Amino acid sequence: MTTVASERVTAYTERFRTFLDEDVAPLEEELAGRDAGSPSAPRFDEQGRMHPAVWEARREVQRRAGALGLYAPHNSTDVGGGGFGRVEMHHVEEFVYRESGLGLGLAALAWTEGPNPAVEHCSPAMREQYLTPLITGEITTAFCNTELGVGSDVLAMSTHAVRDGSDWIINGTKGWITNSHFADVLQVVAVTDPGAGTRSLSMFLVDGAAPGLSRDRALPTTMADGLTGTLEFRDVRVPAENVVGEVGDGFALAMSWINWRRMCRGGMCAGWGRWLLERAVAYARQRHSGGRPIAEQQVVQHMLANMDADVYQARATSLVAQAELDELGPFAIPLHREAPRLISLIKVINDEAFFRVADTAVQVRGAVGLVQDSPEEKLFRVARNLRIPAGTSEIQRNAIARGLLRSPAA
Ligand SMILES: Cc1cc2nc3c(=O)[nH]c(=O)nc-3n(C[C@H](O)[C@H](O)[C@H](O)COP(=O)(O)OP(=O)(O)OC[C@H]3O[C@@H](n4cnc5c(N)ncnc54)[C@H](O)[C@@H]3O)c2cc1C
Repeated sequence: MTTVASERVTAYTERFRTFLDEDVAPLEEELAGRDAGSPSAPRFDEQGRMHPAVWEARREVQRRAGALGLYAPHNSTDVGGGGFGRVEMHHVEEFVYRESGLGLGLAALAWTEGPNPAVEHCSPAMREQYLTPLITGEITTAFCNTELGVGSDVLAMSTHAVRDGSDWIINGTKGWITNSHFADVLQVVAVTDPGAGTRSLSMFLVDGAAPGLSRDRALPTTMADGLTGTLEFRDVRVPAENVVGEVGDGFALAMSWINWRRMCRGGMCAGWGRWLLERAVAYARQRHSGGRPIAEQQVVQHMLANMDADVYQARATSLVAQAELDELGPFAIPLHREAPRLISLIKVINDEAFFRVADTAVQVRGAVGLVQDSPEEKLFRVARNLRIPAGTSEIQRNAIARGLLRSPAA
């Protein structure tokens, strides 16, 4: 078991740094010249969606990163990804979030709009049509699981698909979907066998231009990114080859996607946490009160020490847990019985530690920390958000407790 960055991680981060300097920086400069807002504080169009110029700048970064093989290091090599394990991805994610801050560089590493472990289970026809272009950043996707009436209680969803010959007909509404406005292909989870528990759901790939699909209203959230909305499926017909995995695999595949996002919290929170800590230390050194830098006030020193302690412990948890998960198979279907507890430990410890870090980062700056869309203010809102999507903190504690109580040793 290793928690150390491999040589290929070092090679990747070196290439990523060059990409930030040579590709991302000029695109960022160009975007700043438009009246469109920034990647972390975009303006919106009349329908509440991310301003097209910001969206297009992100897409250009994704396409270029895809062409250079930087966009999908987490995907397996047999589908064109980098084949990195979870410890390697922690190091990659930490580097990307720390170096990019809130800039356009974040778009260069696949996020929820990109290729994921679940979509790798698609049919050969879907691989050619959607998976390969996802890996190269030519198209984007959205994971359509949650409904307005059902979030945590996934098995209670009402969107359903029924067979019609060799096709499937999908009906239902999905809500709170990231990238709902723009996705070229949708990963839709729907009921195919009501009452069959964890085998009741299936995952389908639905083309973004499919008849019967409507992209409804934007749902503005505290993220203020113009990316979240609702989708309606009215008699949307898809052929059998659009089923991901087997019929009945939907719950396991949805969990594979969700677990991917949960594990990503380790590197994300470590990267942003260290970025906020470095900014807080620099600010405390130069801001004066009573004729002395506030860094000389013991109470401010303790704020910095608390941030350091939170970043350090959450990062260490992530690295150790991801190393254990690399051995168990983080995306195996069926998943090893010890894995859910470890995955939820990564998410809850990182989300909650990062919330304290972001809160303290605001406090160290006083009023300056509350300036709208400043890095500290924006990341405070992001940190608050993190404790809800991909499973709330309460759902993580349920999974941790289930893991403890199941084990005879505990
Ligand atoms: C910005 C944003 C982006 C999102 N992106 C996506 C996306 O791309 N795709 C997607 O499918 N979904 C997405 N979601 C939805 C997200 O995954 C859900 O909001 C989340 O799973 C919680 O579901 P809910 O909001 O319905 O809350 P609920 O499930 O209604 O929970 C409400 C409260 O009850 C608690 N609770 C519920 N059930 C239990 C239980 N069994 N035990 C203990 N406590 C419980 C919760 O912890 C919470 O505190 C996104 C949400 C947001 C805010």
